[in-house]
Amino acid sequence: MDDAHSPTLVPQREEDFLPQPDGPVVIVGSGLAGYTLLKEIRKRDAAVPVTLVTADDGAFYSKPNLSNALAAGKAAAALASARAEKMAGDYGATVLTHTRVTAIDTQARRLATDRGEIAYGRLVLALGADPFPHGLEGDAATAVLTVNDLAGYAVFRDAITDKRRVVVLGGGLIGCEFANDLAQAGYAVDVVHLGDWPLERLLPAEAGQRLADSLATLGVRWHFGRTGRAVVYSAQELEIALDNGETLAADVVLSAIGLRPRTVLAAAAGIATGRGIKVDRLLQASVPRVYALGDCAEVDGVNLPYVQPLMVQARALAATLTGTPTPVIYPAMPVMVKTPVHPVAVLPPKPGSIGGWQVACGERGVCALHVDADGRLQGFALTGTETAQRTRLVGELAV
Ligand SMILES: Cc1cc2nc3c(=O)[nH]c(=O)nc-3n(C[C@H](O)[C@H](O)[C@H](O)COP(=O)(O)OP(=O)(O)OC[C@H]3O[C@@H](n4cnc5c(N)ncnc54)[C@H](O)[C@@H]3O)c2cc1C
Repeated sequence: MDDAHSPTLVPQREEDFLPQPDGPVVIVGSGLAGYTLLKEIRKRDAAVPVTLVTADDGAFYSKPNLSNALAAGKAAAALASARAEKMAGDYGATVLTHTRVTAIDTQARRLATDRGEIAYGRLVLALGADPFPHGLEGDAATAVLTVNDLAGYAVFRDAITDKRRVVVLGGGLIGCEFANDLAQAGYAVDVVHLGDWPLERLLPAEAGQRLADSLATLGVRWHFGRTGRAVVYSAQELEIALDNGETLAADVVLSAIGLRPRTVLAAAAGIATGRGIKVDRLLQASVPRVYALGDCAEVDGVNLPYVQPLMVQARALAATLTGTPTPVIYPAMPVMVKTPVHPVAVLPPKPGSIGGWQVACGERGVCALHVDADGRLQGFALTGTETAQRTRLVGELAV
């Protein structure tokens, strides 16, 4: 990965930028969504031409590893399992790296990029999501880091080398995972979180509190009901001012306050967007020959920014693009929070479900079941050793 940022096209051929008869399937994005789709297409069809265009270096990696890699001492290069050239060769695709799509002409079926134009037969947007702007004021605001890709992880890992104190903004899934990983790796960690307990939109209070207490045993200090106002340089350190006037000293500030689907490119092309790029169950956008999947997509009104949904989407879309229109049908997909000190498995009830939590707290974990008035299981939140129950509970879900 030594030349990870060299501006090369892989492979570099002039015809990659010229129109073809009906045009290739062009996938924009080399994250798990883009590459999983490519792999699924190749399972079904060895011949359909596929071009994958990506703004980054096109290395294949599993993004969830980014918040579990510090304690394991892993550098960014060690997390990438294949370079773009290898992916292109293994899956019979043209992979154009360091190529940013700047506009989509849905009439002419052409993409404008910062390296030339690309014609498409069918276009798949797998653009991912951007970190929410942290909104902090102060002269060190631009020093606040985010980790949303391999390059961001590399910058963060460099920044914390030989440092000791990290303030994490946000106690959601990613903030908790980084807090665990950093604390495990020996850092002093403060987490500033607006909610009254971590993951409060997914977990009932007892389960969230148990996770917070477990992370506290590693030394994590919580600042609940608080938000950051400003971050300034002060001597050799950063000083974070909270909304209650308290200040925290840190060497590095990591913002993990959430992600928002990348919709700007699609919206500018007249493609319907809401929270994400709006697609139906066939992952078809509001204009012909354009599809979306992964973190950028709002599928039938729902954006699910996790790995398992994008795998289901990729399998269905590969079938559709190779001649068998296949709607996305999700199985029950519990989300695992990778906090080894106290793991969490959560399956939120469907939006609009009427019911409540039944919570049982044991020594080694919390078992919270979301049930309706007739006692039927709608979802669950499990912590600690109770997470072992998730497979059995999935089988008991009301349909
Ligand atoms: C730290 C962290 C930990 C996580 N842990 C978990 C977990 O444990 N379990 C789980 O289920 N999910 C987890 N997630 C979420 C999961 O990783 C994502 O849902 C998934 O990786 C999203 O993949 P994607 O391909 O949709 O987006 P991305 O991986 O963001 O890929 C987007 C791609 O689009 C490219 N791109 C964007 N705009 C352009 C453009 N204009 N032109 C060209 N290319 C462009 C980018 O360069 C990139 O290649 C985690 C996320 C993070 C950040």
